[in-house]
Parts: sequence; C-alpha cells; structure tokens
Amino acid sequence: MAERTAALGESERRLAGVIQSAMDAILTVDEQQTIVMFNGAAEKVFRCAAAEAIGQSLTRFIPQRFQDAHAGHIHKFADTGLTNRIMGAKAVLWAARADGQEFQIEASISQVVAGGRKLFTVILRDVTERVQVEAVREHLASVVDSSDDAIISKDLKGIINGWNRGAEKIFGYSAAEAMGKPMLMLFPPERVNEESDILARIGRGESVQHFETIRVRKDGTKIDVSVTISPIHDGSGAIVGASKVARDITDRKRTEAALQESETNFRGLANLAPQFAWICTNEGLNVYFNERWFKYTGLTAEQSYGRGWSTPFHPDDKQRAWEAWNRATATGETYRIESRLQAADGSYRWFLMLGEPLRGADGSIVKWFGTCIDIHEMKQAQAERVLAEQSLYDSEERLRLALEGARLGTWNWDLKTGELVGSPLAFAMFGLPADTKFDFGIFISTLHPNDRAMVDEAMKRTLAEHVGYDVEYRCIWPDGTERWIAAKGRVYRNGAGEPIRVGGIVFDVTERRRSLERLRESEERFQAMANGIPQLAWMAKADGHIFWYNQRWYDYTGTTFDQMDGWAWESVHDPEMLPNVLERWNGSIATGEPFDMEFPLRGADGLFRMFLTRVMPVRDGEGRVTRWFGTNTDISAQKESERQLSEQAQELTRQAVELKRTRDGLERNVIERTEQLAEANRVLERSNTELKQFAYIASHDLQSPLRSIGGFVQLLQMEYEEKLGEQARDWIRRTVKSIAQMQTLIQDLLSFSRVESRSRPSEVVALRDVFQDVMALLESSIRDTGGQVTCDELPTVLGDRSQLVQLMQNLIGNGLKYHGAEAPHVHVSAAPGAKDNEWIVSVRDNGIGIDPKYFERIFEIFKRLHDQKEYPGTGIGLAVCRRVVERHGGAIWVESEPGQGSVFRFSIGSATITGKTERTDENDQLAYQHQTSSDSAG
Ligand code: ADP
Repeated sequence: MAERTAALGESERRLAGVIQSAMDAILTVDEQQTIVMFNGAAEKVFRCAAAEAIGQSLTRFIPQRFQDAHAGHIHKFADTGLTNRIMGAKAVLWAARADGQEFQIEASISQVVAGGRKLFTVILRDVTERVQVEAVREHLASVVDSSDDAIISKDLKGIINGWNRGAEKIFGYSAAEAMGKPMLMLFPPERVNEESDILARIGRGESVQHFETIRVRKDGTKIDVSVTISPIHDGSGAIVGASKVARDITDRKRTEAALQESETNFRGLANLAPQFAWICTNEGLNVYFNERWFKYTGLTAEQSYGRGWSTPFHPDDKQRAWEAWNRATATGETYRIESRLQAADGSYRWFLMLGEPLRGADGSIVKWFGTCIDIHEMKQAQAERVLAEQSLYDSEERLRLALEGARLGTWNWDLKTGELVGSPLAFAMFGLPADTKFDFGIFISTLHPNDRAMVDEAMKRTLAEHVGYDVEYRCIWPDGTERWIAAKGRVYRNGAGEPIRVGGIVFDVTERRRSLERLRESEERFQAMANGIPQLAWMAKADGHIFWYNQRWYDYTGTTFDQMDGWAWESVHDPEMLPNVLERWNGSIATGEPFDMEFPLRGADGLFRMFLTRVMPVRDGEGRVTRWFGTNTDISAQKESERQLSEQAQELTRQAVELKRTRDGLERNVIERTEQLAEANRVLERSNTELKQFAYIASHDLQSPLRSIGGFVQLLQMEYEEKLGEQARDWIRRTVKSIAQMQTLIQDLLSFSRVESRSRPSEVVALRDVFQDVMALLESSIRDTGGQVTCDELPTVLGDRSQLVQLMQNLIGNGLKYHGAEAPHVHVSAAPGAKDNEWIVSVRDNGIGIDPKYFERIFEIFKRLHDQKEYPGTGIGLAVCRRVVERHGGAIWVESEPGQGSVFRFSIGSATITGKTERTDENDQLAYQHQTSSDSAG
C-alpha cells in the first residue's frame, strides 16, 4: 500500500513536471470557474503569476464581451458528459491577458470528476503570430493567384502540389485537375528527360533560370515557355520541392520565327545573286557567306568564317585587303578593293570587293554587308586593249624602221608602155620573184577580190583628179598567203601636163592590220561581256560625256542611245537627288577620284529602283584619265532586306524593353496599392470608433436636458393652459411635438450606437415571441392606420432577443407607415436559406414601394426619401436593421417597385438543425465567432 502510494506520488510529480514544462498554457477551473491550476506557459501567455491567478475567476482572462457566453458554454459542455473537445474548430477564439490586452487563441477543453467535483482543464496556445503569418501568406497567395505567369510547386518526386490561376490559363488544367498529378504530364514525350535533369539540379539546391523549352497544354497543343525553377526549403533548410514559374513565350517565339524566316529569305536572295555576298562584324570577323563563295573557293563555312575570309586572297593582295578593311572600319566609309581570289582548282580570278556598313539606331556600326563581283573578264579586256595599243605602236615603230632601213618597195608604172616595174622588195611583198613581168591588170589580179574595185577606182581618181594615190589592200601570194599592203604614189606629168607615169612606194602593214583586228575583236568581246554582266554599265570620256552603254542599260531604262548620248542620262534620275549626283560626279571628273554613290534610277516601267553606282577612271601611261568605266548595281532587294532585318531587330528590342517596363510598373502598383489600402483601413477604423463613441455620448447627454424641457413645457401646459391665448397654446403644442420628435431621434441614435456595444448574440430566440412583442409595441400604430399585420409559422433562431425585436419593429413599423391610399397590410414569413442552418425572413407590405435606384441608399443612416410632413421619421431605422442583421452574421436587402409594395428580407442563423452536415457542437461555437462582416458594417 505504501508502495502504491509512493508510486502514485511519483507519477503525480511527474505529471506536474510535464504540465509545468509544457509549451502550451494549461489551466484548470472548477465548476464555479475558479482557477485551481495555472502552469508556467499560462503565466507567460496571460502575463500573470500562478500565485495571483489561482483562486481567481477565469472570467478575468476572457474578454468582457464573451463572458456570458463562455459561462453558458462551459455548463453545456459539462452537461454533455463528453471528456474532451476542441474549442473554436471553425473560428478564432479570443482571450485577455492580465493587462487586458486581447489575443487570439486555439484551445481544447477536457473535464474530469475528481474528489466529487467537476474540473475543467483548458489547454490553449497564443496564435496571434500564426494568424499574422497566415494573413501574410494569404496576401502572398492572392499575389500568386493574380499573376499571369504560371506558378507551380512540386515535391521532389515531381508531383504537383501548387497550381495558381496563371497556370490554369497557360496550361488549361484547373487546379483540381493538376494537383497531385506528376509534373511530367506537361512535358512533350521527346522532352521527358528534362524533368529528371531539373529534379537532379533542384536536389542539389541549384535553380534553373529562364530555361526556354516546350510544354504541352491540356488540349494537346504545344506552347513555348520560359521557366525558372527554384528549390523550396522547409524550416530546417532541407529541400522539399521546387517552385516553377513558367511564362508563355509563344508570341515571342513567333516573332523570332518570323525573323528567322526573313533571314532565310535574305539568304535565299543572297544565294541567287551572281556575286559573292558576305557579312562581317566591325572587328573583321566574317559571319556569313552565300553559297557562291563556298562553291568558288571550295572552302567550308568553318574555314571561311571569322578571319578565314582572307584565305583565298592572292598573297600579293592580302596586305592591301587588310589595309583597305582597316581604313573602312576606322572611317565607316565603303570598303572597296580589287583582288585576286583563288578558286577551288587553284586558279585566280579578279574580283571587286565592296562592303557597306549597316548602322544601328545609335549610329554605331552593327555589321558590314558586302559583295565580291567577278571582274576578271573586264580586267583582261582592259589588259588586252593596253597590249593591242602597245602592238599598234610597235608596228608603227617597225614602219619607221622600215622606212629608215629602206624596208619599203618602190614601184613605177609607165603609162605609155603600160609596164609596171617594182623593186625586188616590192615584189617580195607580193610573194613574187624579182624578175616578174607586171602590168596594172596583172597587179590588180593579185589582189583580194574584195579590194580590186577599190584599188582600180583609187588609181582612176589619182589620174583624173590630181590627187595622191593612197590605199591599203590585201594581196594574195601565189601560195595563198594574205598580206596587207599600203601603197602611196603620185602622178608624174610632162610639160604639157599630161600624165606619163605613176610612181610610189609599197610597204607591208599586215602586222598593224592584225593588231587593229585583234583590238576590234577584243572590243567586241568586251561589249559582249559588258552586256552579259548583271549590272548596268557605261563608259564616258574624260570630261564625263557618256558615249557608250551596255544593253542592260537600255533594257532597264527603256531608252535608246540617241536619247542617252552625252549628259542625257539625267532624265532617268530622281530630280531631287540629281543635284547631289551631279555635284559628286563633277567632283570626280575634276579630281579623277573613283565615284561611288547610291541613287535611284527610273526603269522603263516608270518606277525607281535603288542602284549602287561605281565609276572607275581608266588612265593612260602618264596617269591621265582617258575615260571612265561605270556600273550601276541594283541593290533594291538588298536594301529592303537589310531594312526589314534592322526594323525587326529594333522592334524586338523595343518589345523587350516595353515588357520589362510594364512588369516593373505593375509590381510597383501592387505594392503602392497595398500600402494605400492598409492606411485607408487604419484611418477608417479610427474614425469609426470615434464616431460610435460620439453618437453614444451625444445622444445620451442630450436626453436629460430634453427631458427637463419636456417636463417644464408639460407643467406650462397643465397649469397655464386656461390663462394663455390661442396663439401661445399652439406654440406649446408645437414645442411638445418637436420635443417628442427629438426624443425619437435620440432614442433611435442611441439604439443605433448600442447595437455594437451589446454583447454578442447567442440566445435561442423564437421569432414567434419576437413577433408578439412587436405587436404589442406597434398596437397604437396598427390601430391608427387601420392596418393589419399577419405572420406564418416562424422559426427559432440564434440571436439577441432585444435586437431582433428592434429589427422586426422597424421593418413592420415601416410597412405600416409607408402605405398609400389602401389600409396597410404587413405579412411576415420565413423560409430556409441557400446555406445550411440559415433562415430568410421576409416582411412584405402593400405600400408605396421603392424605386430600385434607392435600394442601397435607404440602409444608410439619415437617408430618407420623404420629408417630415409626408411621412415623419429619422432615417435611422433601416441603418439599425442592417447593423443588427450583420451583427448576426446575415444580410438584409429589399425587393420592390414603386406602387407595388415592398419586401424586406434578411438572413439569420438557425437554432435548430436545418442542414444535413451540422455537428452538435456547432451552436456552442457561434458564441465565440468573431464576425468580420459585422465589424465593417459600422
Ligand atoms: P425612417 O425613419 O425615415 O422611416 P428608415 O431608415 O426606416 O427611416 O427608412 C429609410 C427610408 O426608406 C424611408 O424614409 C422611406 O423612404 C424608405 N422606406 C423604408 N421602408 C419602406 C417601406 N416599407 N415602403 C416604402 N418605403 C420605405
């Protein structure tokens, strides 16, 4: 026995230790609510020493307004015989500290019978902080919910456990559909392995930033998204999941695709061009060549890009090419150089390289666009011409030598004998032996058939007209060799002036002739080539007079040479640009500098196209300009695609900047709005409390002086009525009436301000009883108006009986008051509401009705639709009604039409079970419920 007692003592001590060291406040009260136990945590929570608390009533720690309800609640719980119950499972409970400060708690209660008395033990916890945290969390949740971005969280297995409205919008799954599903459902089959990578990275605590990928919507369509994924840590820092923010970038991708397409178009175009086309950065790194480059050089893209572009340059030209490039990038002027490029087969051809800078919006050079034009044929033609001129010069030189060294034959034709005698060299020139017998006829027969008539003619003219003989002809040697011979001669006459002989010299001009022939051929070849190139081409004399155009010029402009000769080309220029063109062109003519310019030329169709025009001087041996060679390259297409590219690039940048700005602005707005709201709320709360106090004090303090005034006036009326005149009696009557009105007003005001100050509604009230009370109060009104008030079966509700009487009195009273010609009939009925445990009570009248536009306004304090004479009143009644209803957790509204009567309805909680899901302890909890709606109603 002693052992058992000892063990019991031990276990009691242990229990006491546990209670004392428990984290939650634990206190025990007896049936009179006297505190019998108060642990350490309770001391802290209530800021009250146990010694002071024990023996005191628990009500000390319950806010004034809950005290009554609490007592009833404890008794009810005692009666249930249950041993344990959670308090306030659905709502927040309030407690008060020793210093009166109220705070929110969570509590459970248990009862035991010990030593014949019932003891209640309450375990409670201060949840103020948690409630605040929850508020913050709620605020955050609303931000998350209003985001356009999908914000999703998942656990480490990839199962979705958070899904905001943005996610619903972007992926098409509702939160209910998505929660608990694997994240993988958003992945297209070909990307499922991304998820394991992501999970692995999250597992390592890394985050994934702005990762662009593709996801699948519920309807199966794919969308481009940019996702940012970050690990979620729990309180201890362990990674428990990941949050993912996904943004729909389909539109951006579409823009990129459009850009891509335009780039493809550009490349297609560039590959069609007969030239090589290239693009370089300002640092001289190549980023693009068209197909023709690769075909010609045999190089791969890797070999050509970057600095590789200089590989095929002829070793002798490389240095110049780099210098020209550096000059161009330093000054931003056109890059141009002629150089030989090695073909895949090892041979070289001449090219003209041209490059133009493309500038960005800020004027800095973004890229260089360029071409390499094959000018090999042109170069060769030029070289050949130089050569031909050279050989012409050579043959003339030979002639001089021939003359000097007697390299010419002589001949003499005796007109009398007809004998034609030549020197041996002369005969040699005809491929004949020196002793050949010759006369004029034989001579003619040795000539090329086509030249015979011409020579005969020339000789006849010489004989007849005293002119010199000077011809060039072809003679055909006996072996068939054809030689060109030049012959000069004169007529010798006798004293009478009669011709006796013709004599002169011959010399071989075959070489010179051949040179000329070659020159002509070369010229033709040049012409053919000039007509074959894709550009318009032309030549001008040193002074700028254009004397030749290629066929393409005529084809494009639709003109003829006669229309274009000299300076007539001005007619196909844009008149606005022309002065500028002329100035530049004349400048080049004056200085001999190459000419380079872009300007439009009008085509045969009347439309202008943009041309890049380049003119090169052709110089003679002494460096003098002898002529100009010009080309016009159509660059409209290139210009257009350049323009489009740069426009699209600019548009993209603009959109990105805009997007960023909008986002920043939005974030700022949200923060500002939240602050403003909080401030407004604070101000509102303060003025609300002040107003309530003012109304209460003002009306309370007004009553007593008014009562004295009323009393004295009544005395006046009683004692002096007989002695006073009719006028004075009327004044007194009116004073009495005004005093009565004022008393009504004060009473109404007082009841309005009291609605709040009364304790929370908690009784079970039969509306039938309320109705009876109101009938008694309104008896005289009913009698005066000859009206009728009826009611159906009325339910039992939870509430404050006196307030409900006030509510019904106001509603029924108004029904009686606002009647038209007919006697008033007011009918009260009730029906279950949409929610469980809710009744809708209706008060219907047959009165004057209300215009719907006043439905809201009439519930505001002092708002009336009539003046005192028509219908007396204070404009407070319905405001009191609304307060009372909202304080009971319900709503009040009106349905009416002018002339059709009105129905006022309000909702109120039931005291009996009307729904299927109600729990038995529900009603008890109502006593503790803190109704936010009623707080804002004031
Ligand atoms: P009052 O003291 O003027 O009756 P209330 O707040 O009770 O103040 O009502 C506000 C206004 O609403 C009234 O002035 C009246 O114009 C209108 N009203 C209230 N009840 C009715 C009703 N049953 N029929 C028509 N009008 C009504």
